[in-house]
Amino acid sequence: MQLFLATQRGFCQGVERAIQKTERTLEDAKSPIYVLKEIVHNKAVVERLRAKGVHFINSLEDIRDPHPLVFSAHGVSPAIRLQAKAIAEQKGLKIVDATCPLVQFVHTKAQHYLEQDYQIVYIGHSGHDEVEGILGEDTKGKIFLVENLQDVQELTRDLARRNTRYARFSVHEPTVWLSQTTLSVDDTADIITALHSIIPHLEDPAQDSICMATKERQNAARELSAQVGKEGLIIVVGSKNSSNSVRLADLTKSCGVDTLQVDGLSELDLDYVQRFEKVGVTSGASVPEDIVQEIVQALTRPA
Ligand code: SF4
Repeated sequence: MQLFLATQRGFCQGVERAIQKTERTLEDAKSPIYVLKEIVHNKAVVERLRAKGVHFINSLEDIRDPHPLVFSAHGVSPAIRLQAKAIAEQKGLKIVDATCPLVQFVHTKAQHYLEQDYQIVYIGHSGHDEVEGILGEDTKGKIFLVENLQDVQELTRDLARRNTRYARFSVHEPTVWLSQTTLSVDDTADIITALHSIIPHLEDPAQDSICMATKERQNAARELSAQVGKEGLIIVVGSKNSSNSVRLADLTKSCGVDTLQVDGLSELDLDYVQRFEKVGVTSGASVPEDIVQEIVQALTRPA
């Protein structure tokens, strides 16, 4: 079997920074600490930190003791920030913000456009922590989430619009688009083109919001697909709730390559993988390299 590794894979700077901040907070605290939601969307990272004393909580109401609180790489809404500040003052606990600066940049952009009274068409996946945080910036009912091309059609459909989630959207108001940082570059480009075709005065932000790490990993996954070809197999290492990992798997599948997305070696059917002559391995931005190397060693081990 020929094995190919994606040239760009694994930890991005935002993920490394969030993990380092969490570990440093643990060391300084000499006690357990809280992290609101998963620090990054990776099962192994979360399990390793949990073993060191991190309590992952889904809600601020789960805070019982005055241990430090860390916001995850995906950021939080202004309302959560305020609520956390009040709890911190009341309980005397420290807040550490591990939000990726690139996610924070999108918050700043959203605030900027809302202050200018713009409508924002925000391209993202409903329910994702980052998306929840950005939607939380919306105090004026002016951010409209679109997930796909169907949503774009619905955004400007005249019939029965009064009953839809887009009832307040107007094609006549100043409008800009922003996006989640970890989307598919190609799908987002299609959505932006469709938005421009139905909202003539739609403005583009000065800089798009898909981060460079996401773009680089997608480009490398495309190259990997070409290397293994349609008869080959690609293994995408990354958790199922990791947006950028899922996008990598979507991309390699759309290149016509058989694709498996796994959290690690234990989820891999090695007998199945050995049937392929060319196998490529890539990993999402929240995946530790040792998990990739464990798979590589298993695949290259002499029979
Ligand atoms: Fe930041 Fe991009 Fe990494 Fe997300 S994938 S943490 S936005 S650098």
